[in-house]
Amino acid sequence: MDIWEQLYQAAKPLYHPEAVNDFIYAHNVVCALQSKSGEIYTGFCIEGLSGTINLCAERVALLNMYTTSGETEVKRLIAFRDAPPTGITGMPCGVCRETLLQFSTNNRNTQIMADYATRQTVTLGSLLPDWWGDIKKQN
Ligand SMILES: [Zn+2]
Repeated sequence: MDIWEQLYQAAKPLYHPEAVNDFIYAHNVVCALQSKSGEIYTGFCIEGLSGTINLCAERVALLNMYTTSGETEVKRLIAFRDAPPTGITGMPCGVCRETLLQFSTNNRNTQIMADYATRQTVTLGSLLPDWWGDIKKQN
């Protein structure tokens, strides 16, 4: 079992879309990531009727890592919905991309699973070229 399958298997049980109550809906996207130290952390999306409460699975996994260990660097991550691990997986949204990079600029090297079947990945840095924070650091 390679690391990507380990990540997939860690996140898969979290996929069970459900209404927590009349206001909160959760578990319809899941994520597993591997931190710099090698630990695996998971997360699932949490959405509320007021949009600002919404948290994607990627950010929940990141915050799980950070609040549990204090780590900020992510080696690799996978996010997906109900699809079996035979094809295209989810790309992080703009907010998640930005959050990952603000937690550590080294996360530009984070490998993000793009196609599970072929193990094609992309780096976070390739998804955020000319990041505004690099300009800020030069000033
Ligand atoms: Zn997101």
